[in-house]
Amino acid sequence: MENHHTVLITGANRGLGLEAVKQYASAGWQVIATCRTPKTATELGQLAQENPSVSVYQLDINDLESITLLAKQLDQQAIDLLWCNAGVYGPKGIGLGEITADTWMDTLKTNTVAPLLLVQQFLPHIRRSQLKTIALMTSKMGSMEDNTSGGSYIYRSSKAGLNAVGKSLAEDLRSESIKVALLHPGWVKTDMGGPSALIDVTTSISGLRQVIKSLTLENSGSFYAYDGQEIPW
Ligand code: NDP
Repeated sequence: MENHHTVLITGANRGLGLEAVKQYASAGWQVIATCRTPKTATELGQLAQENPSVSVYQLDINDLESITLLAKQLDQQAIDLLWCNAGVYGPKGIGLGEITADTWMDTLKTNTVAPLLLVQQFLPHIRRSQLKTIALMTSKMGSMEDNTSGGSYIYRSSKAGLNAVGKSLAEDLRSESIKVALLHPGWVKTDMGGPSALIDVTTSISGLRQVIKSLTLENSGSFYAYDGQEIPW
């Protein structure tokens, strides 16, 4: 039964993360909605007030202490789906010749390193769940084959790195029946995607939920878009 399941979502205060909270709550799931600053997360706070199945927790994915604290707080809990959604684009409009190590490192930390640290801390919670699923929000921009326009060094490399992380997790955890989904949400109208994007958050998240639902141990570690199409590496 869907409604016995629990999902933990990072970056749940806006954009795709907030929409994922709404859809899973409507489907009857318990939702652990995490964000950097719950105090200013007005819409999420309102949602939690109206819906007892949504609980809000503070989590900055770049802060290992914050991850460890949350893992302890949720100690005996089973987490069916760990959805690592939070991410940053990094500095915009920076081209070849302008890239610095510091700005690159900041983006890599959030998009590539933090999701793995999160998975490491929450493996016990995933192991004790029924669905045993990890979803990593990556991007088609991390695909080599799809890269015909160059540029976006920082974002592209951070998501390509996340793809490598997800593939290894899928291989390592298959024997424990833990599945890993590598997800491209489409080009979506959010603060990151901007107003000219092609689809809205509702379409993206309902598609991604279907992709996650259809995931098997055999295709764990594959890279899928919100419409179910497999994306080449
Ligand atoms: P938004 O910019 O709208 O939202 C990003 C979310 O990530 C915010 O909730 C933000 O929190 C959170 N976040 C960033 N850094 C941290 C951190 N250190 N700790 C906790 N939370 C953090 O982006 P989208 O909703 O569009 O994107 C969600 C995911 O989808 C990202 O991983 C993105 O790369 C990916 N994606 C998006 C696409 C699009 O077209 N929109 C296309 C391809 C991939 P805060 O409000 O505190 O900043």
